[in-house]
Amino acid sequence: MFRFDIIEQHGGHEEVVLCTNKDAKLKAIIAIHNTTLGPALGGTRMWTYQNDEEALIDVLRLSKGMTYKAAAAGLNLGGGKAVIIGDPKKDKTEALFRAFGRYIETLNGRYFTAEDVGTDVNDMEFINMETKYVTGIDIGHGGSGDPSPFTAHGVLMGIKACVKEKFNSENLKGIKIAVQGTGSVGRHLIELLSKEKATIIATDTDSERLQKICDQYQCNAVNPTEIYSVDAEIFSPCALGAIVNDETLPKFRFQIIAGGANNQLKEQKHGDVLRQKNILYAPDYVINAGGLMNVYVELEGYSRERAMTMTRGIYYNLRRVFSLANSEGVPTNVAADKVAEERIEKIGRIKRTHLGRSTRNFNSLKIENR
Ligand code: NAD
Repeated sequence: MFRFDIIEQHGGHEEVVLCTNKDAKLKAIIAIHNTTLGPALGGTRMWTYQNDEEALIDVLRLSKGMTYKAAAAGLNLGGGKAVIIGDPKKDKTEALFRAFGRYIETLNGRYFTAEDVGTDVNDMEFINMETKYVTGIDIGHGGSGDPSPFTAHGVLMGIKACVKEKFNSENLKGIKIAVQGTGSVGRHLIELLSKEKATIIATDTDSERLQKICDQYQCNAVNPTEIYSVDAEIFSPCALGAIVNDETLPKFRFQIIAGGANNQLKEQKHGDVLRQKNILYAPDYVINAGGLMNVYVELEGYSRERAMTMTRGIYYNLRRVFSLANSEGVPTNVAADKVAEERIEKIGRIKRTHLGRSTRNFNSLKIENR
């Protein structure tokens, strides 16, 4: 059942759209959290939710996270996300994604979608048949393709910012880095780290994939359960969320946590524990914003060079967060939230008080010409 109190509890969203189409067997929710900085952008997740309430809570939580991610990255984007209730292995059809695309079109550019868990570039192509408000489409269609190399590049920049903060150097040669997950992001990161001559320890539940990567880049493979206690300066989670928790924290001998995974802290309080243990944490949504920056560039007319320049900015975004955390004596996750909230507040104030026409109109972006 749809519940207004659930929306209020999860951050007071601007708009929540229920999408249904009986013929296409579509049941989806689009949540627009905040569009102060620009149109909401966030992927579409397809998942076998146990019930409608679980889907609603997930889309509310994820869309709020996108508002913070875009704001801290310095992008002119708001936060949004969509979920389709269904099994991505069995329930995908052209009709389903086109029916969903028609709902996105009705929002007239207030929400842009992209891939997320359970959806891929082919699904985006179907959505694109009904609306131009979709990113992450194939390079051949004017899109930016796979975002993970940019996410990995941003993570490398973030690791350098952490090493600068902790060891007053940016040299990764010989620094031991434990990478959890050798999928899209982890694999690209390992390639970049090997060029920096870091000493890499890696794990993955897919032992075949792990072995292949380790053979290629000469890293030391360990079992998934061992990664939390290896002797390394840096832990780089690039697989799951909630891996910083009551069980894993006592095992850590790391001095830095800096990786691409989303929602790394199981609870906010685990950020406090990291600070007490003097472990520098690169807040996940700041360090893993490279993929979002890449699709943002797609909206302006794609240029790989521009996307790479933007991802390099993650170094400075993190330095700003660390500086605020130091001056206010707060955990870095709290400082990151503050950076994001202050930007939304300040830019929102300018927009409210500025009487002239806005200088930027997203409906006139190059995406129109695609
Ligand atoms: P992926 O599915 O390509 O790779 C994940 C890898 O982690 C897989 O190889 C999987 O076998 C492995 N894995 C799963 N459970 C594990 C475990 N318990 N221990 C060790 N390895 C395990 O996903 P991805 O695109 O590389 O994304 C990785 C993380 O980064 C996710 O949290 C994702 O939300 C986040 N992220 C990705 C991007 C992107 O551009 N792809 C952008 C931002 C954030």
